[in-house]
Amino acid sequence: MNLILMGLPGAGKGTQAEKIVDTYNIPHISTGDMFREAIKNETELGLKAKSFIDAGDLVPDEVTNGIVKERLSQKDTDKGFLLDGFPRTLDQTKALDQMLKDLNKQIDAVIEIQVAEDVLVERLAGRFICRNCGATYHKIFNPTKVEETCDRCGGHEFYQREDDKPETVKNRLAVNVKASEPILAFYKEAGLLYPVDGDRDIDAVFADVQKIIQK
Ligand code: ADP
Ligand code: AMP
Repeated sequence: MNLILMGLPGAGKGTQAEKIVDTYNIPHISTGDMFREAIKNETELGLKAKSFIDAGDLVPDEVTNGIVKERLSQKDTDKGFLLDGFPRTLDQTKALDQMLKDLNKQIDAVIEIQVAEDVLVERLAGRFICRNCGATYHKIFNPTKVEETCDRCGGHEFYQREDDKPETVKNRLAVNVKASEPILAFYKEAGLLYPVDGDRDIDAVFADVQKIIQK
């Protein structure tokens, strides 16, 4: 099962991805996570990506396409994969199409989590993440069950993303709205696009996601 999760920043891709990979046991490929890891480890990739991420802009296509191509050629993706945050431009969409042809693979469904922009601003402002396992929470909408303890791994250290600051969020949303339109049209045309109303509680959204996957 080869899936793509689409949706604007804050729509709930990472949150749903956690549930999908835990339930269906396929690797989660998040380009945002890969860039953050590279920045943390101060690698060449991290250096290339940092200024774009800090400004809320997209990392150039040739850099992003390269890391996805490498990741999709790894053996663990043979049982399926979940792409989260990629593709984000039409160039990336076409590059992905070619990569999959070369690997003799194809996408089974593109799940688009739809949420209105004003809701997204509130979601990003309250997002916090477990430093140990990367699980995502929200101060109001999705707090940890036990205070300051990760539900998933029991970790006690959390952080807020630099690019979730209100100044950066505005540009991120504008950039992503514009970039996503042709991609959604491309997958709609291919008969692969499945929209989901993401402005409901996390389990209700996941129930719809599961219905799509089971189809
Ligand atoms: P994305 O990966 O699309 O940027 P996240 O999964 O990180 O989005 O979610 C953004 C924020 O919104 C997080 O703080 C998360 O806990 C919260 N969130 C995710 N899904 C929902 C939902 N259905 N209702 C309310 N809050 C949500
Ligand atoms: P995310 O974690 O998906 O919100 O991504 C965080 C940031 O990483 C984005 O704002 C971009 O700067 C960068 N990024 C992630 N995925 C991509 C992509 N597919 N193309 C370009 N930039 C990306």
